[in-house]
Amino acid sequence: MPTFLQSYDPYREVPMAEYPVPSATEQAEAVEACARAQQAWAIRPTGERVAMLDALEAVLVKNRKEWAECAAREMGKPLDQALAELDKCAWLCRYYRNHAEDMLAPETRLDNAEDGRAYVRYDPLGLVLAVMPWNYPFWQVFRCAVPAITSGNGLLLKHASNVPGCALACQEAFAGAGYPPGLFRTLLVGSDAVEDILKREEVQAASLTGSEPAGKAIAEAAGRVLKPCVLELGGSDPYIVLRDANVERSVQIAVKARMQNNGQSCIAAKRFIVEASVYDRFVDALVAELKNTRIGDPLEDGVDLGPLAKADFAEDLEQLVQKSIKAGASLRYRGATPPQKAFFGPVVLENVEPGMPAFDEEAFGPVFALIRADNPEHAVRLANKHRYGLGASLWTGDLDRAAVLAGQIQSGQVFVNRMVASDPRLPFGGVKRSGYGRELAREGMRAFTNAKTVAFAALDRS
Ligand code: NAP
Repeated sequence: MPTFLQSYDPYREVPMAEYPVPSATEQAEAVEACARAQQAWAIRPTGERVAMLDALEAVLVKNRKEWAECAAREMGKPLDQALAELDKCAWLCRYYRNHAEDMLAPETRLDNAEDGRAYVRYDPLGLVLAVMPWNYPFWQVFRCAVPAITSGNGLLLKHASNVPGCALACQEAFAGAGYPPGLFRTLLVGSDAVEDILKREEVQAASLTGSEPAGKAIAEAAGRVLKPCVLELGGSDPYIVLRDANVERSVQIAVKARMQNNGQSCIAAKRFIVEASVYDRFVDALVAELKNTRIGDPLEDGVDLGPLAKADFAEDLEQLVQKSIKAGASLRYRGATPPQKAFFGPVVLENVEPGMPAFDEEAFGPVFALIRADNPEHAVRLANKHRYGLGASLWTGDLDRAAVLAGQIQSGQVFVNRMVASDPRLPFGGVKRSGYGRELAREGMRAFTNAKTVAFAALDRS
């Protein structure tokens, strides 16, 4: 059980701050205060709750630079990407500001003389426990918290232990926007505290974005107390390039799709499945592009790739690469890196096959696993030969065929001639071991609501 959480800068290799973990009594008081705030919040008119999003957006805009720097320092993300992350949170607020009232409005389902009248209202559940990862330390929190709170819930944030500064900034955003005190509460606790919080009567649901093992732990804990949860877990997204694709464009986007966030994104392209007739062109162009990567200080302008969030992650990734080579993959390219332990230069592996860690596991860093496909059907079979099913990117000039193949790919989203991205307007989530439930769009707004049927008897006409 940790007694404090630490901010550590993986580029400068220095600790930045330590934060004490609250005692069990302090945690209980925070949960009780959140519950009191939620009870008053839930009965406020929907329009009032939705209107608060203007102030939340304004706070994000005002603090974007400071908070982006906090993310860049705590987990190594290049600053321009951290700024874009804060801007995306502001966009999310704007989107729900314009649409949430409609999404939460009661819906008439029956209204006739014979059946009477019935409607569905979307009521909040209570408190939601959000267990979040460090990789998008603002976006992951906001995409869960904004709909959960706007629909009338309170939110307890247990953020990843290595981003306590960002965790407190998220709380500051809601407090600074004028939300009721305690309604969004950050608890700086380790993962050992999660089950006890989830068991509490006030907590009615959980949302986890994180790894498959954490998903299993939370699903089990939620199952024991029969509470619903949304699980956004890992992925090993295929990036399928067919012979009729614009190969040059697919390569440019492949670099971004794999390297965004220093390669640490659930929906990063991870397995590059390329039809044989364009395979050599694709790989040659990919390696040429990677040679231009600027690797260095995430706070410096123009840096494409910073360090991984922790030095351990670089060691894990090295093992994945070495084991895959031992199993028959070949190393085609490796980018040179600065000396800090958390750096991992881009690696291109060829001849990757099912059964190798580079195919079967989630490579959480800039490893390009290249796989040759005989034809489009073979490419889809390879794409589906995985326990994960989060996103998929498909490159082809034949859009009719793309629509057919999109129906066959086992994933929560398929993006055609584009990299996979989350978007406030589109539901986001996975299938298979990538989790269940959906965030964002209408689905996310209703994720932590009770779709309550209210039915009135038909008027007695006798
Ligand atoms: P992680 O190690 O699973 O941690 C995620 C969160 O879960 C952290 O707050 C962590 O707390 C907590 N946690 C870990 N083990 C737990 C347990 N046994 N019981 C309760 N809580 C537990 O994942 P990460 O390294 O932060 O993030 C990377 C993973 O997240 C990748 O697999 C990535 O694909 C996935 N991810 C998925 C999505 C998506 O939308 N599907 C988005 C982003 C990331 P501590 O930090 O205190 O351990």
